[in-house]
Amino acid sequence: MSVCPICNGLATFHKYCPLCGHQMQNAGVIHDFYDNYSAYLDQEIYEDGYRLNDHAICVHLMNCPNCHYDTNISIQRLNIN
Ligand SMILES: [Zn+2]
Ligand SMILES: [Zn+2]
Repeated sequence: MSVCPICNGLATFHKYCPLCGHQMQNAGVIHDFYDNYSAYLDQEIYEDGYRLNDHAICVHLMNCPNCHYDTNISIQRLNIN
């Protein structure tokens, strides 16, 4: 099976805000985000998020707690047996 190392606590991801340099926080997995906020989002984006998650990639939302910039990062899933 393949698992996302971030979701499963196997690794932590450090990313620094390109705007202010503050360390960004993992704000969740993108399909959870879409589940919560899908009413506000275009359906095509919603479906694309699921398609990405169906492949070997887990998409996370990163948020800067300092200036509120946010961005998506794609995490390669690891195969574990
Ligand atoms: Zn993940
Ligand atoms: Zn920032």
